[in-house]
Amino acid sequence: MAPEKSKSDCIFCKIVSGEIASNIIYHDAYVIVFPDINPVAPVHLLVVPVKHVASLAEMKEADAALVGKMVAAANKVAKEQGLAKNGYRLTINCGADGGQLVQHLHIHLMGGRPLKWVN
Ligand code: AMP
Ligand code: ZN
Repeated sequence: MAPEKSKSDCIFCKIVSGEIASNIIYHDAYVIVFPDINPVAPVHLLVVPVKHVASLAEMKEADAALVGKMVAAANKVAKEQGLAKNGYRLTINCGADGGQLVQHLHIHLMGGRPLKWVN
């Protein structure tokens, strides 16, 4: 089954469509970036594809370019946020054991302090 373009009960689709207001700090045809509502670092942004893809496990081979665009957008925003020198972390949680709470693919962009590894 192909991933849906948007999903009416998906919170990130609602942010993409503007139905739920957010402080969009980057937007192009494929990707939006907005702050995580529950930040765990001084900079904690979510990099979200405009198209609804439920998770990494649901992505198709054809979505590989989209994931590349997400990473490119994350790097661009990280630079704009002044994170390039000291570094930053991109994280994608997938499924229950991966800690994925929102079923719309997203990259966490975190930085602004030294981050410990998770286990
Ligand atoms: P994950 O656990 O990887 O699925 O991450 C979901 C993230 O979305 C969490 O860090 C939440 O704090 C964040 N989140 C949930 N709802 C919103 C929202 N309306 N706006 C911004 N971030 C949100
Ligand atoms: Zn969605």
